[in-house]
Amino acid sequence: MPDPRVTEILRRTWGFESLRPLQERAIDAALGRRDSLVVLPTGGGKSLCYQLPPQLTGELTVVISPLISLMKDQVDSLRELGIDARELNSTTTAVQKRDLVQAARERSLRLLFISPERLAADRFVDFLAELGVRTFAIDEAHCISHWGHDFRPEYRQLGALRDRFPEAALHAYTATATESVRRDIAAQLRLRDPDVLIGTFDRANLSYRVLPRVEPLNQTLEVIERHSGEAGIIYCIRKKDVDELTASLRKRGIDARAYHAGLAPAARTATQNAFAEESCNIVVATVAFGMGIDRSNIRFVLHTGLPKSIEHYQQETGRAGRDGLEADCVLLYSAADVLLWRSIVERSAAEGGATPDYVRASLHHIDDIDRYARGAVCRHRALVQYFGEEYAKPSCAACDLCLGDVEEVAGATVIAQKILSCVVRVDQRFGIGHVISVLRGEETDRVRKLGHDRLSTYGLLADHPQGELRDWIYQLIGHGLLAQDGEQYPVLKLTAGARGVLRGEEEVRLVQIARKGRRKAKAERESWEGVDEKLFESLRKFRRELASARGVPPYIILGDRSLREIARLRPHSLGELAEVFGIGEVKLADLGQGILSVVAGS
Ligand code: ADP
Ligand code: ZN
Repeated sequence: MPDPRVTEILRRTWGFESLRPLQERAIDAALGRRDSLVVLPTGGGKSLCYQLPPQLTGELTVVISPLISLMKDQVDSLRELGIDARELNSTTTAVQKRDLVQAARERSLRLLFISPERLAADRFVDFLAELGVRTFAIDEAHCISHWGHDFRPEYRQLGALRDRFPEAALHAYTATATESVRRDIAAQLRLRDPDVLIGTFDRANLSYRVLPRVEPLNQTLEVIERHSGEAGIIYCIRKKDVDELTASLRKRGIDARAYHAGLAPAARTATQNAFAEESCNIVVATVAFGMGIDRSNIRFVLHTGLPKSIEHYQQETGRAGRDGLEADCVLLYSAADVLLWRSIVERSAAEGGATPDYVRASLHHIDDIDRYARGAVCRHRALVQYFGEEYAKPSCAACDLCLGDVEEVAGATVIAQKILSCVVRVDQRFGIGHVISVLRGEETDRVRKLGHDRLSTYGLLADHPQGELRDWIYQLIGHGLLAQDGEQYPVLKLTAGARGVLRGEEEVRLVQIARKGRRKAKAERESWEGVDEKLFESLRKFRRELASARGVPPYIILGDRSLREIARLRPHSLGELAEVFGIGEVKLADLGQGILSVVAGS
């Protein structure tokens, strides 16, 4: 049974109905002063686990956080809830520091966010000791581990916390699920008999789709169109792809902005801020974009290329739908990316930039994500099983496989035979582009000069668009029937396995996007049911104006889930409004009248 005082404060301050199962246990551990290690995926609700207990104990919790942007976001949200939270980092002014010290001495301060470097300053540590601080929350705790994907040397200093605060309870939070990282966190922090709480890695509100990459630009435009006016991140593998795609989108009047490590820091910050403030909705980026993106209403994450591991994929898609509403994760797959990643890893090994262990691990990660993308198992199931969890439901009703978005190509074996024979007819001396030209029966100078218009395979697949043939050829490479090889440029060759297919002894499976079109995931249908979309837009405008007046991002004022509920219920009184998700006492007093007049006027 949940502690009634916890439920009360959750409703009154946060406007939430109930805790998620693991949050309840994590909060119990904090209130019972037992060390804990809490593992929840991005969007799983880790912050509430350390934000709530100090509201009950009246004590101060010190939160260690790796990024200033993460701290600022949390401090802003907490202050909007009427909680005394502050941050101490390189941006804090002398006046703010003085106020902070005073609030701490007067015992009104509940949450203090600091960067790990602060703990290296003796005077500051003495100050915390003098205050009698006895609870520390370590956010993004995997940063302490060499095994993690995001090691930060400053985090090593946290090992000394146990010596300086022997009585304190330490609570570590992370989204990294691997066993070795977990063990390392507990060891480095010297956690004492910690309550290890591992949440589910399934994100039921996300729908996952892996589609053959046939026409990347059109496929991208389709996703954007489906989410018109909503926020999304488009990930590309290389900076060059980011720049090209951004330019193509902008040419079509879409306000997409580029983000990658090759851009000036000021430009990157500007894009990040515009996205947070909702003045820009679409960012095209490499993996460099994401840390510190807390915008909760991201409605789609599109991967135009294969991520380099399932961990990356889980983290990048995890940025979508943090507000618990439905979100779309689309991965455009081509076996070409597997080859690209392998060559990137091999090149870095050849240049001496990577140890053999690293190379082996990287290749392993690439194989894993490749297997995931080509797999025929429900995506939700495949993902949680990868993270060592069982998946109980027979169907997720929210992935390409369960929804039947992709179907088998009829007559795939014959198509494969035509492609393979064409590779043989051109003497295994040409690349993909030329083989496609011949199969499509194109009348180019090159085809004519080489006499390839007289081959028996010329024009054999003339009815199929280029993108489709390219995709099929990559599927054959993925099946190990064709390989790309060559000194100067990649040339298509048959593998030993191809003979069986040419002799008609083996079947081939090819997939394509289902002709009947895309079906909506269950969560997507439900969450818009009964919502007055026009009112929803007016509420968004109200929220955006208020946010800009207050200098905070809109999602900190109120989440999309609350706006949709208001636009569904059309409350006429403060009493009715108080029932809405995310509306606690402070928000009701602060925003209540404003919201009611928007509802009345629409
Ligand atoms: P994490 O830090 O684990 O990535 P957050 O703490 O940012 O996740 O929480 C993700 C989202 O879930 C936030 O929008 C938060 O308001 C919401 N949330 C957290 N706990 C609850 C709850 N018990 N009920 C409803 N919403 C919640
Ligand atoms: Zn599924």
